[in-house]
This record gives sequence, structure tokens and C-alpha cells, in this order.
Amino acid sequence: MTTAQGSQIQFGDTTIPYEIRRTPNRTSISVSVHPDGAVTVDAPMRTRKKHIAEAVQARQVWILNQQEHFRRLMRTGTKRFVSGESFLYLGRQYKLLVLGVKSDEPPNVRLFRGQIEVRIQTAADQESQVAFTRSILIDWYREKALRRLESLTTRYARNLGVEAESVRVREMKRRWGSAGQSGKVAYNWKIILAPKRLLEYVVAHEVCHLKHDDHSREFWRLLERAMPDYERRRLELAVNGPKYDFF
Ligand SMILES: [Zn+2]
Repeated sequence: MTTAQGSQIQFGDTTIPYEIRRTPNRTSISVSVHPDGAVTVDAPMRTRKKHIAEAVQARQVWILNQQEHFRRLMRTGTKRFVSGESFLYLGRQYKLLVLGVKSDEPPNVRLFRGQIEVRIQTAADQESQVAFTRSILIDWYREKALRRLESLTTRYARNLGVEAESVRVREMKRRWGSAGQSGKVAYNWKIILAPKRLLEYVVAHEVCHLKHDDHSREFWRLLERAMPDYERRRLELAVNGPKYDFF
């Protein structure tokens, strides 16, 4: 006999309901996320609800990632890089404005009157135009990201008494930054799409890795010292992170 029971848990601003299924002969708790986003917890018959809630709590970031992963699979349509489309920058949405310029004018991107204005030469066909706009826009994001991340890294490193040997931006899959004991720090440029408080979180996190290259208790303790509300920001990045990964 299996008995089902509903419950829910609060993750920051998000409420996640889950179904508890109790099965005889089961000895451990297992959490699963279904393609429709539903969460079920299989538990031994007599496990207390409090222990089940703790097990769900411990997997909160994983659950949110799984749900977003399934949502992304369902989502269709990508950016077309044309005027009128919205693009994120530091957590805000801006309309894109693509303007054709004379052939001797260098391409240029700027934030102007609440829009991201891209000035480029008109390409012969639509496909090249999109590719060109996209690459000019990415160059602009990367440059902005590098400038912000460099100064944040210097600031957090100074506060913790460490030094970053070099700061780079790269394209990364499923991560926001990396740091080696050699002092080299790299960031995923796409973090520039997120609000500043999340850039700060990623920087503080990587700078702490200059002291501890693992996720040990000492590491988290140091991060808490550098950023007392890091847990909230970490959760926010886990929930919204996939939104910043559309390129
Ligand atoms: Zn880390």
C-alpha cells in the first residue's frame, strides 16, 4: 500500500508544493521532479514530515534547476535580434533598436533613452544581419561585464586580503565563474544580464575560492563574512539563472 499526501515548502519567494508517497519496504527518502514541474517525495512509511521537509529543503537548488530545465525544453522561439525585442542588462529589460549606418562608420552599441541602440552597416541578407547584430551585441555585453567584474573583484579581494592575478570573461556552460589557486578568476559574461546584487554574489563566491578551492565549511563561512546575505542571493541566482542564458 502506498499513501499519498500533499505538502509544500517555501524557497525564497517561490512556493513549491510536493507530494509525499509512503511505501512499505522503502528505507530512504528520494525526491524527484517530473517534466510538468511536479515534485514527489518517496519516503519510508514512518518518516516524520519534518524529516521529509528537511530532505526537500536540502535539494532546493537542484529542484529549481530541474524545473527550469524542463521549462526550457518546453519553451520555443529564440531571439531574432531585431528592433523592438527586449534584452536584459543588469536585471532590467531594454528594447533593442537596430539602426543601419553608412559603410565607413564603425559599428557601435550604447544605452540610450532606455534602449540598447545598435548601429551597424546593413547586411546583404537577413541572416547575416542577425548574425552581425548578435555578435556586436555580445561584444558589447562582454566588455561591460569585464569592466564591472574587474572592479568588483578588486573590491571583494581587497576586503578579504587576497589578490586576483587576472580577471577574464568567457562563455561558460552551466556555471557563472571559476577561480584557481593560481589567482586566475574567470566569469561567464552572461552574468551581466542579471541584477548587480547577483554579479556581486558571483564575484564574492569566486574571490572566496582564492582562499578555499572547495565548498568546505570554511569556504561558506568566509563567504558569509564577505556577504552576510549570500544565501538569499545564491537562491535568487539558482531560480533566475536560466533566464540569463538565452544567447
Ligand atoms: Zn564555488
